[in-house]
Amino acid sequence: PFDVLVVGGGPAGAAAAIYAARKGLRTGIVAERFGGQVMDTVGIENFISVKKTEGPKLVAGLEEHVKDYAVDIMQQQRASSISRNTLVEVGLESGATLQSKSVIVATGARWRKMNVPGEQEYSGKGVAYCPHCDGPLFKSKKVAVIGGGNSGIEAAIDLAGIVEHVTVLEFDSKLRADEVLQRKAESMGNIDIITQALTTEVNGDGQSVTGLTYTDRRDNSSHEIALAGIFVQIGLVPNSEFVDGDIDLTKRGEIIINERGETSMEGVFAAGDVTTTPYKQIIIAMGGGATASLSAFDYLIRQQPA
Ligand code: FAD
Repeated sequence: PFDVLVVGGGPAGAAAAIYAARKGLRTGIVAERFGGQVMDTVGIENFISVKKTEGPKLVAGLEEHVKDYAVDIMQQQRASSISRNTLVEVGLESGATLQSKSVIVATGARWRKMNVPGEQEYSGKGVAYCPHCDGPLFKSKKVAVIGGGNSGIEAAIDLAGIVEHVTVLEFDSKLRADEVLQRKAESMGNIDIITQALTTEVNGDGQSVTGLTYTDRRDNSSHEIALAGIFVQIGLVPNSEFVDGDIDLTKRGEIIINERGETSMEGVFAAGDVTTTPYKQIIIAMGGGATASLSAFDYLIRQQPA
């Protein structure tokens, strides 16, 4: 069996594996796709000490760093279950089972998409999901935020300080964001909020986004807004389905961890976007992976010798 088995090969998983291997532990990584969300990222300008990089370039660096150590990398494998006997067992969709004395779950999350024409085509060309990451690209331009929950209104307030104007489109008849955030957004001169709006299409000129089309659900009329950017804020879905029922999750599906990265299952730790950690960012996921790995080491040195 492994000493530490990491499930997930994004920034959290890579950091966890390197920290474990550097302790001389027998370490494996099982991942569906090495690099995770970073593979889908165009420009990265907030990975501290690297002024500007691109997702695939950062992933190549992660992979090179992991491969510098004796880590057993198993790619194109999806975990489908987790259980605990004397060891932790991770079942794979392929039918195989991996055994380890400890496991670090770092399976990340995925942004919920609008699934409208143009969204995929213009992703990274005006369609964005992360205001902390891409907000500054739209300095002095007009943008929309799709979604009037907490993350949507937080994004609108954040963007309003950078861009010329923000239009928030909410499907429902009222915003779901906290009252204090709604009041703050209303107090800002450059945020408009449109409720009962169903976004139906992302418009572009072949190169980048030029606007969007939405239906006003009150009278079914169709409207167009000219914009340079569209921030989709309709939910981040944690990839935690395979542990559901075995490890405690929040009602939004995040794996509940404490400040050491411990989960509700003995010997199982978690890190990164799949967890309750606030703020989902590369640098935070890496820190979480390091924390979980050091906690796994602490756990292992306290086990009775076999
Ligand atoms: P992920 O990167 O999501 O990696 C998860 C890993 O788990 C992957 O290897 C995946 O294949 C694997 N996996 C998932 N399910 C399973 C399973 N069942 N079995 C096996 N493996 C599984 N952050 C920044 O700091 N700066 C930016 O500029 C930035 N831009 C972004 C742009 C976009 C378009 C997106 C989508 C995100 C961006 N982020 C940015 C956020 C950042 O990418 C995430 O916070 C970070 O990647 C989270 O790392 P993670 O390791 O927790 O998860």
